[in-house]
Amino acid sequence: MKDTTKHQGLRRQLMETLRKKGISSAEVLQVMTTIPRHFFMDPGLVNFAYEDQAYPIAAEQTISQPYTVAFQSQILEVAPHHKVLEIGTGSGYQTAVLLGLTPHVYTVERQQELFKKTQRLFSQLNLRPKKNVFGDGYKGLPDTAPYDRIIVTAGAPEVPKELLQQLVVGGKLVIPVGVKEQVMFRFTKTSEKTFDKESFGNFRFVPLLNDKN
Ligand code: SAH
Repeated sequence: MKDTTKHQGLRRQLMETLRKKGISSAEVLQVMTTIPRHFFMDPGLVNFAYEDQAYPIAAEQTISQPYTVAFQSQILEVAPHHKVLEIGTGSGYQTAVLLGLTPHVYTVERQQELFKKTQRLFSQLNLRPKKNVFGDGYKGLPDTAPYDRIIVTAGAPEVPKELLQQLVVGGKLVIPVGVKEQVMFRFTKTSEKTFDKESFGNFRFVPLLNDKN
C-alpha cells in the first residue's frame, strides 16, 4: 500500500472539512493528517477513504466516520502520558489516531475475523498498541486497569459499570449510549464513587454487543 501525494492532498482537504464542521483540536487534526485512512478501508472502497462517511468493513461492522473519530478523540482530551483503553478496534483507524496522541494504547475487539485482520495490518504498518486483545470489551480490560481514558466506538445500550470502575480518579470515559441512535456522553470520575456526566449530541454507531446478543 502506498500513501501518494494525491492521498495526502485529499487528506488535507478532509481536515479542512472537519475544521469547518467544528473540530478545533490542533493535535487531533495534525495526527489525522498523517494517517492514511485508505490503509484501513475495505479494498473495494479505498477510493472513498477521504469522504467524511462511515463505510462497511468485515463482519458487518463499520469504519467510523472521520468526523466521529475526530470528535471522540477531541473530547477524550488525551495527553502523551495517558493510558488509553479503546473498546471496538474494528478497522484499527481510531487506534492509529490514538497512537498518534499517546504510546499507551490498549484495544479490544470481539469479532475474531476483524481482530485477526487488524492485527496483521498493525504489524504491516508498524503500529504497536501495548495490547491488542480479542475479547468482550463490555467488561473492559481488568488486567491492565486502571486507565486515564476509555473510548467506546460502538453504541452501548447502557454504560458498562466495569468501564467506570476501570478509570483512575480524574479519568474520562467517552461513550455513545443508546440503541437505534446514540447520545455521546463523557463521564469524568471525580472520586471512587462519583462521576460528572456531560452530553455531546446525537451519533449513529453499530451496536456494542454483550453476552446476550
Ligand atoms: N474504531 C472502529 C469502529 C468499528 S465499529 C473503526 O473506526 O474502525 C465498532 C466495533 O466494535 C466493531 O468492530 C465491533 O465488532 C466492535 N464491538 C462490538 N461489541 C464489542 C464488544 N463487546 N467488545 C469489543 N468490541 C466490540
